[in-house]
Amino acid sequence: EQDVADYRKNLSIRVSGFDVPRPVKTFDDCGFPPPLMSAIAKQGYEKPTNVQCQALPVVLSGNDVIGIAKTGSGKTAAFVLPMIVHIMDQPELGKGEGPIGVICAPTRELAHQIYLEARKFAKPYGLRVSAVYGGMSKLDQFKELKAGAEIVIATPGRLIDLLKMKALTMKRATYLVLDEADRMFDLGFEPQIRSIVGQIRPDRQTLLFSATMPRKVEKLAREILSDPVRVAVGEVGM
Ligand code: ADP
Ligand code: MG
Repeated sequence: EQDVADYRKNLSIRVSGFDVPRPVKTFDDCGFPPPLMSAIAKQGYEKPTNVQCQALPVVLSGNDVIGIAKTGSGKTAAFVLPMIVHIMDQPELGKGEGPIGVICAPTRELAHQIYLEARKFAKPYGLRVSAVYGGMSKLDQFKELKAGAEIVIATPGRLIDLLKMKALTMKRATYLVLDEADRMFDLGFEPQIRSIVGQIRPDRQTLLFSATMPRKVEKLAREILSDPVRVAVGEVGM
């Protein structure tokens, strides 16, 4: 209704897609469990950023999402917090093997930053987070993945190498994030992304985040995501 439209306008948010949930005003509105709320408070996050206000309820509702917002707008928590909820909801959590959440990022620096953020929110739940990227020992990463991790953050090339080595199985991966999709394209990772996506079950939830949305990235997103809700903040992407 008009309230929601006005609130989105205040946040500089534009949405498209079916049945888009209303944006939240607080982290409490997200219905996060107490350990996650404590971890959020511990981080000093008082309220969701603009992109988080709209992306969090959409991701939590299980929709695929295309999220477009500039660097520094808080996109990481927009996919990491719902990922923890998604993982804790899995009935087979204690049994199966392989990651449930898989995050691809273009560079080792970005993968490491996401790792640091994910670890803070995974820790209260005892979830294991592994970051795998080039420039580190493949054998060490192989061993770490073999030991088990519910969350894997990876650069595309290294993830493919480790999949070939059977360091991990994607059979229970149901939450896939492609972060900084525009940069992954610029770095020529499109074939690797397609290969990784092809190895993950089609009933997954897929999220694609980017600071910009060139047409070729939008096209890939439309191919890989199912009925995505598009959330764009600020001047970018429309
Ligand atoms: P992006 O991926 O959009 O470039 P990041 O996820 O890296 O942005 O977040 C940028 C900074 O904002 C980080 O230092 C992060 O800890 C901080 N941040 C994220 N969400 C919040 C929030 N709700 N309140 C305060 N700071 C936040
Ligand atoms: Mg980011």
